[in-house]
Amino acid sequence: MPTPDSVTLDPDVSALVPALVAVRREIHQAPELGFEETRTAALVADRLRALGLPVQTGVAKTGVVALVEGAHPGPTLLLRADMDGLPVQEATGAPYASRHAGRMHACGHDGHVAMLLAAAECLAARRDRLHGRVKLVFQPAEEGPGGAEPMIRAGVLAEPRVDAAFGIHLLNDFPVGTVGLRPGPVMAATDRIGLRVRGRGGHGAAPHQTVDSVVVAAHVVTALQAIAAREVAPTMPVVVTIGTIHGGFRYNVIAPEVELTGTVRSFDARLRQELPGRIERIARGVAAAFGAEVQASYDFGYPATVNDPGMTALARGAAAAVVGEARVLAMDPLMGGEDMSYFLEAVPGCFAFVGSADPARGLDHPHHSPRFDFDEAALPIGVQLLVRTAERYLAGGPA
Ligand SMILES: [Zn+2]
Ligand SMILES: [Zn+2]
Repeated sequence: MPTPDSVTLDPDVSALVPALVAVRREIHQAPELGFEETRTAALVADRLRALGLPVQTGVAKTGVVALVEGAHPGPTLLLRADMDGLPVQEATGAPYASRHAGRMHACGHDGHVAMLLAAAECLAARRDRLHGRVKLVFQPAEEGPGGAEPMIRAGVLAEPRVDAAFGIHLLNDFPVGTVGLRPGPVMAATDRIGLRVRGRGGHGAAPHQTVDSVVVAAHVVTALQAIAAREVAPTMPVVVTIGTIHGGFRYNVIAPEVELTGTVRSFDARLRQELPGRIERIARGVAAAFGAEVQASYDFGYPATVNDPGMTALARGAAAAVVGEARVLAMDPLMGGEDMSYFLEAVPGCFAFVGSADPARGLDHPHHSPRFDFDEAALPIGVQLLVRTAERYLAGGPA
């Protein structure tokens, strides 16, 4: 995993690479699910204490917070990493593969933890030069049900008050040696819908004596496509996906009831508030046309992840200094969700993507795949980006 020639690393970041890779692999072998990250949190807390930093543990169950206090007064920047793995059976065959059946770091959060620990080490060693503080936040349960919001409720943005936030995600959509950035909305709000279509069951040979909930459900699924196609401005991205459809007893029996579940993705906060009503109106209206009824539920998940333009410009400058101007990619928004969004709702900040794919070595499987792995050359790039962004922010705030 040689660092690409175009990448510029400080000597202290380069020196940390062997330890950085070792920590990543140690965490990779022992993935833990959301709010169960006890071993990971203990490893994080031990290493932060070894750096001489004040450490808080058990924040929102398994979260860990530490503070790098600069020698000079100034603002406080929050740097965030997520710690959880996924209920996936690893199939990479890597020597450092998960040792726990059915659990895997399939999103790269093992790398996020290792990178933030290394950044903490660099920043702690550079304390004399820092004007302000860096709050290091290791959060549980990004993959659900969400650890950022409970950490905020537990007071992570106070004492000292956080002025801005920065976080990174490894991303196999981009080759190693690149950084993806975008001001404004960068990841979607992730909501969940449930629809119960109620008809009247009966004999498959006598549909006229029934209200066929399967036929009604089919019309509802089709009609919901009008949300993206006809209801919302074409310039506003929205996704309505029905992921499950369950109903019926037997091939020759008309089902009395069908249950649908799905996901709704959007970026615009106002549009998001309108979506439950629009979905319910269409589903109920279509069902009524056939003499059926619909019971609808809508659960709001993570809000959209929205980058502050000033903080994004600052991160862009830092990224250009690390990977070179030409390798900072102006990325399209992703329809996936992230609970980094809660930090960015509370304070101005930026969530950046560190390219981690090396297709030549087969390291380009998508996140959450049982074969997901990334090029570890991305790790020092991420560390350098965290350190450089923190230093630039504390040297003068957003550009
Ligand atoms: Zn993920
Ligand atoms: Zn992730």
